Amino acid sequence: MKILVPVKRVVDYNVKVRVKADGTGVDIANVKMAMNPFDEIAVEEAVRLKEAGIATEVVAVSCGVAACQETLRAAMAIGADRGILVETEVELQPLAVAKLLKALCDKEQPAVVICGKQAIDDDANQTGQMLAALMGWPQATFASKVTLGEGRATVMREIDGGLETLEIKLPAVVTTDLRLNEPRYATLPNIMKAKKKPLDTVKPADLGVDVTPRLATLKVAEPPKRSAGVRVADVAQLVDKLKNEAKVI
Ligand code: AMP
Repeated sequence: MKILVPVKRVVDYNVKVRVKADGTGVDIANVKMAMNPFDEIAVEEAVRLKEAGIATEVVAVSCGVAACQETLRAAMAIGADRGILVETEVELQPLAVAKLLKALCDKEQPAVVICGKQAIDDDANQTGQMLAALMGWPQATFASKVTLGEGRATVMREIDGGLETLEIKLPAVVTTDLRLNEPRYATLPNIMKAKKKPLDTVKPADLGVDVTPRLATLKVAEPPKRSAGVRVADVAQLVDKLKNEAKVI
């Protein structure tokens, strides 16, 4: 059973993102980049399924600039067997990524695609769902537990106020939530081993996909700064402030 894991290169979650002075986007020049955290969870899950003898191969895919190779090497250091880079300078939107992944699914025929539930840069939460729709496959999003069986997967997912368990037919798309697992740290020997694993590069045109953006970003702005709080002496003063200053009661 082959598992395909899309991994996105995003600004590291420890970095405080800065909006470009002209408001056209986020400044990523000289900023530390890393694998999207939900995708790390996806790679870990796929590798655990391989270690358990359920999956036979884990293929990591990244779409974007040449530097996405680093993201693929990071996935291979966790345990993915090989990587595919779909290289383009065009800023990719979820629909374009979903179409690229569809082309790769048609070629690679994985039993499962495990994606992150969302990329922490665009927070779109769209790619996995769009891929499932384009493939006509079932989807189980926000997975907190995944069990693969004969031609079927059982997925526990986090929903408002509880957990829902779904059974879906394979092939399918699963997207990971935070509590699915805790990704391992890549060891130095595994980082070295990953450098020798196969990494293929293709262009969107090779896959017959037009990745031209369909949406235009009009403006990106910092959230307004929060003003400092004040300490009140007693409940009466609090109520007075809520009534007369904040005017919320
Ligand atoms: P999004 O819909 O942008 O929030 O992304 C959801 C998931 O789709 C991510 O966690 C990745 O697994 C996958 N994905 C999105 N963009 C890319 C990309 N450029 N390359 C590889 N995978 C991606």
